[in-house]
Amino acid sequence: MAFGPAWDASSDPTTVGVAATFVVPATECDLACPVCVIKQRGEAKSPVLTAADYGHFLQAAFAVLPVMRVCIQGYEPLLPESWDCTKALLGASRISAVPTSVITNGTHLSDRVVELEALDVGKLTVSLDSSDLVTNDRRRGRKGAFQKTVSGIERAVKSRVLANRVAVASILYPHGVEALIGMPEFLASVGIRRWSLSPLIRIGHDGSQGGFVESADRVKAAVEVLAREAGRYDLEFFVDDEFKVLDASSWTPEETRPSRRAIARAERLLRLDPQGGLSVGRDLLAESRFARARWIPGDESPTEFIQRAVPELIAPEPLGIA
Ligand code: SF4
Repeated sequence: MAFGPAWDASSDPTTVGVAATFVVPATECDLACPVCVIKQRGEAKSPVLTAADYGHFLQAAFAVLPVMRVCIQGYEPLLPESWDCTKALLGASRISAVPTSVITNGTHLSDRVVELEALDVGKLTVSLDSSDLVTNDRRRGRKGAFQKTVSGIERAVKSRVLANRVAVASILYPHGVEALIGMPEFLASVGIRRWSLSPLIRIGHDGSQGGFVESADRVKAAVEVLAREAGRYDLEFFVDDEFKVLDASSWTPEETRPSRRAIARAERLLRLDPQGGLSVGRDLLAESRFARARWIPGDESPTEFIQRAVPELIAPEPLGIA
């Protein structure tokens, strides 16, 4: 689900507060990954929220919730159609000194580096699914995706502000080791030091929760191979299992070198989608229509909505708007 890449395991915001994550309202991505979680969840079908709504929501969240990190992802936050919303969220976070993360497909990254520096984005995760151009583009559903994404990565790595904040995330498909085996060498060659792996997720339908497509044993076998390869190039390497849905009881740190990254308290992870749906924790493994609550900006202030939707997360004392 790609939240793990949005922060380091050592600074998981849900251990002490709330992580506020956002899907910003592009009606269509410029790539067409057949496994897209945003598409599977139906989050961006009929966007109703504007950039101003996102800004108002976040200011209200800062005032009443202990927000420790803001994370922006998909459809694609750097697209022209999404960029005003992304800027509104990053700008409000910067003013309130709340750390931020952006997860991007990287195709517009080259053009946004200067603005992302100015907005002081804290962590930038770029998704790339193979070091092989043809394989990557097939998985991302568009020819030319690889070259645009890699140009973006190279540009970000040259930025004095962003160089140490950039990481790459890849999806591990079933039987997908071959497509990823060349990634560590490739990433090292372009100056990337952190790589994370997200086993493929299937979103649940009709209210049922989804989960990983592969069994824990098969994921483990793939991870062992890829971890060894990452070690050869001295990369930091993580496997993302945000909601602890992987039965990893048979894994040991000795056997499986990378850290398995999970969210400490999933019930403190919020996600606002462009239809105003607010999903909480493991709700995110099901379609957006099963969201905890839905915000209609004309009908309810953002503060009233947050108080109605997640009363259990309200901070005991007013936090004030920074
Ligand atoms: S790049 Fe991301 S948002 Fe776009 S289709 Fe692929 S998974 Fe979905």
